[in-house]
Amino acid sequence: MKNLEIKDLSSWPIEHSTRPLVIGGPCSAETEEQVLEAARGIKAAGIPIFRAGIWKPRTRPNSFEGIGAKGLIWLQKVKEETGLLTATEVANARHVELALGAGVDILWIGARTTVNPFAVQEIADALRGHDIPVLVKNPINPDLELWMGAIERLHAVGLTRLAAIHRGFSTYQKQKYRNDPQWQIPIELKRRMPQLPIFCDPSHITGDRDLLAEVTQKSMDLNYEGLIIESHCKPEEAWSDAKQQLTPMALKELLSNLVLRDHDSSNELVDNTLGELRHLIDDFDEKLLELLANRMQIAKTIGHYKKENNITVLQNKRWGAIVEKSMINGQKKGFSEQFITNLFKAIHQESINQQEEIMNS
Ligand code: PEP
Ligand code: MN
Repeated sequence: MKNLEIKDLSSWPIEHSTRPLVIGGPCSAETEEQVLEAARGIKAAGIPIFRAGIWKPRTRPNSFEGIGAKGLIWLQKVKEETGLLTATEVANARHVELALGAGVDILWIGARTTVNPFAVQEIADALRGHDIPVLVKNPINPDLELWMGAIERLHAVGLTRLAAIHRGFSTYQKQKYRNDPQWQIPIELKRRMPQLPIFCDPSHITGDRDLLAEVTQKSMDLNYEGLIIESHCKPEEAWSDAKQQLTPMALKELLSNLVLRDHDSSNELVDNTLGELRHLIDDFDEKLLELLANRMQIAKTIGHYKKENNITVLQNKRWGAIVEKSMINGQKKGFSEQFITNLFKAIHQESINQQEEIMNS
C-alpha cells in the first residue's frame, strides 16, 4: 500500500509549535469550575492544547460516564478565556456533530472505539469534508493492523491532519503498568507510516502519576512528536482516573525535566535505531523477570504442598524430565545445549532454595 499523505504537526493550527507538542487537561470534564481552573493551570504551564473527556467510555457501568454535551459549552469558555485549543474524544457520529458544532479544535478516538471498524467508519463518514486534526488511540488489544485500519478509514474521507496516540495495551495479568506499552508496536507503526506523528499517553500506559516521568522520557528517546497527559487541579478528587492525574504545576515540572536528545547528529539513523533496539531489549528483560517471578510463585506453592504432604523437595525424575524437554525445545530455537543446561540449572537451584526455606520455616 502506498504511503498515506499525512501533514506534519506544523500544519495544525498552533502558533508556536515546539517539540513535543503537548496536550494536557483532565481525564473528564466534571464541572464548569473544575474545567476552567484546570485550563488556567494548563495555560500557565505553557501547554497549547487543552483536553477534557466529555463522553467517557468506562469499563464498568455505574462509574462516571461523562458530563455529556453541556460540557462542550465549558470548552468554548476555555477557548474564549485562555485562547487554548480544545480537544475531546468522540465515539460516534452524534459526538462528532456536537463537537464540530461547538467548535472543538482537535478530536481523538479512544482505544475502545479504535477496535471497532463499524464505529470508526461511522466517525469517518461524519467527518467527511472537515479537515480537523484527529488523533487515533491504539486499540486496547495489541493489533497493529486494526490501528492502521482506523487511520486509513479517516484518511479515506479526506482527513490529512492525523496522528496516532500510543496508550498501551490491555493485559489480563496485572503488570507494572496499567496498560502494557509493547513499544515494538508503535515503532512498527512508524516504520510502516513514517509521516504519521505519534503522541505518547503516559497517563493511560502507567495508570500511576509516579511512573509518568519514566515512560514520558522513553517516548522522547523514541522520537515521539507529541504527548497527551491527564492533569487535574485536585487529582485525588478526580471523578475518573484519579491515580494517574497530576496537577498542572507538576506536569510543567515533569515536562521541564525531560531530556530531549539532539536529532541532528550525523548518525541520527544509527542512534535512533540502536536506541529503539535497546529499549526493546530492556522490555524483554523486564518481561523475563516477570515470567520468572510468576514461575517462582508456583514453585513456592508446590513447596507448601510438599511440606503439608511430607514429600522431599528434590524429585530427580521430575527434574530430569524438565531438562530433557527444555533441551529439545531450546535446540529447536537455536540455543546451545550448554546454555539451556546453565539456564535451567540456575532456575532450578533458585526454586530449590526457595522451597527449602518454606520446608524449614
Ligand atoms: C482518555 O483519554 O481519557 C481515555 C478514555 O483513554 P483510552 O481511550 O486510552 O482508554
Ligand atoms: Mn482517562
